[in-house]
Amino acid sequence: MQAKLKKGDIPAEVRFECYKAHMENYFNPKTIEMRVYPMEMRYAGPKEAILHAIFRQNFGCSHLLVGRDHAGVGSYYTAYQAQEIFNEFKPGEILCQPIKVTSSYYCKRCDGMATDKTCAHDPSERVNISGTKVREMFGRGELPPLEFGRKEVLEILTRYYQSLDSK
Ligand SMILES: [Zn+2]
Repeated sequence: MQAKLKKGDIPAEVRFECYKAHMENYFNPKTIEMRVYPMEMRYAGPKEAILHAIFRQNFGCSHLLVGRDHAGVGSYYTAYQAQEIFNEFKPGEILCQPIKVTSSYYCKRCDGMATDKTCAHDPSERVNISGTKVREMFGRGELPPLEFGRKEVLEILTRYYQSLDSK
């Protein structure tokens, strides 16, 4: 069954292949575990972030990454509404705590991935490419700069976006 996705979302099978390539090539297999929860996106923004936290809590996870517009759709929710909802709970009410992530980027001065929380360097130090531009590069079969992602993962995404163009 094909999961319902909003336009521009990468299908679960392709994301799974990316995670697998990343895990096999960059993580110690003794310290990592991947589990898949087979639930379609609801695009319920903050409420879905709480739902995701409860699911992960039930699997024994202590933390959940909550990024910009987590489970959002269009501009229905504000960029960090799914992070802010966690402030409404008292300590202990939700055991799986959010790691609130802002947009990440590669910083040449930090020589690695960074966010506004970890890096105070000038924005001109960032390798910054818009999602649209990256998708165009994938569609043309070009790999974005390797600061942008792991080669094995970028190759999977290139194949995926090229398959879209040939449909
Ligand atoms: Zn930096």
